[in-house]
Amino acid sequence: MLSMSIRLYIVSLFCVITLSNCQNKNNTSSVKDEASIVKEKLKALIIDGQNNHGVWPKTTMMMKSYLEETTLFEVAVYRTKYTYQGPHHGEVDGYNHDSIKRLLENYKLEDYKVHIPSDSIIADPDFHPDFSKYDVVISNFGMDSSDWTTEVKASFEDYMQNGGGLVVVHAANNSFGNWDAFNEMIGVGGWGHRDLNKGKRIYYDGSGKGLIIPANGEETSHGPETEFVLTSRAPEHPIMKGLPREWKHTKDELYDRLRGPAKNVTVLATSFSDIEGNAQPWAPENKGSGKHEPLLMTIDYGKGRIFHTALGHMDYSMESVGFIVTFTRGSQWAATGNVSIKVPTDFPNKETSSKRAWRLK
Ligand SMILES: [Zn+2]
Repeated sequence: MLSMSIRLYIVSLFCVITLSNCQNKNNTSSVKDEASIVKEKLKALIIDGQNNHGVWPKTTMMMKSYLEETTLFEVAVYRTKYTYQGPHHGEVDGYNHDSIKRLLENYKLEDYKVHIPSDSIIADPDFHPDFSKYDVVISNFGMDSSDWTTEVKASFEDYMQNGGGLVVVHAANNSFGNWDAFNEMIGVGGWGHRDLNKGKRIYYDGSGKGLIIPANGEETSHGPETEFVLTSRAPEHPIMKGLPREWKHTKDELYDRLRGPAKNVTVLATSFSDIEGNAQPWAPENKGSGKHEPLLMTIDYGKGRIFHTALGHMDYSMESVGFIVTFTRGSQWAATGNVSIKVPTDFPNKETSSKRAWRLK
């Protein structure tokens, strides 16, 4: 990875050279050249290919376009050779079980690689991104992603320990439950063969106090998809600064009872898991937690920075302006430690969610 200090030094060096050359020519072009160099883009990599949320070929393209629209990022996608689209796709407009794989064609990559759809999970022995080329890696993997090789895991741990950036989106916190270092990076996760009695849970009580308790044998859960209100818990954090204290999110799943090492976690925003309202429709005896659950977090891992959003179940969940703004700001923070992306005027308030209809351009 090109560290920021080295990046700034190179930019400064270019500016000096450019300006000294241009002073012998004309000042107008020197200003133009300097501006174009200063705007060197952050390099983001979205990794995907296997996710129980079958909509992922579309949501990857949504996140790619959100980052590119900020003009701050150039975005690459690295996809597994064997792809898997799990059962969470009944709600995707125009697609059913037989046609869901068309999403891969309709939102295809131009990476000139072979991607082979499968109904089962097949490990990709050639999956080996060069993480060091990127300022931030965004995971759109989900539950049932195949394990990476020992070598790739080690290279990713090394990348993060030495100042890499990671963004974990929704079901990406279901993946890789047996990978200890990944669990440290994401702070807390759910399902994915994680031990029900291992790790800790984080929540806020009614007085606004943050608490950490041991895992107690309960699996992670969510209720029916619905709109819900998020509450900022870190209004001075760069990702949160300028956002309202509370805002309404579009239809999504509200994860509760996430658990994990819970080390070096800063909770940015929570949402209340109502005991009855967030009970599982398919197993109503599994109630909501009755606690304010962390849905936006940052985690420090070595010199690396992680932004973890539990939001983003479906394409319509990602059309939420609240998702778009926290995702892009979180990605910039994970890449640089700073945020310059402004809060837009259509950001939602507590009473009303807001969304932007997304189409591939
Ligand atoms: Zn989901």
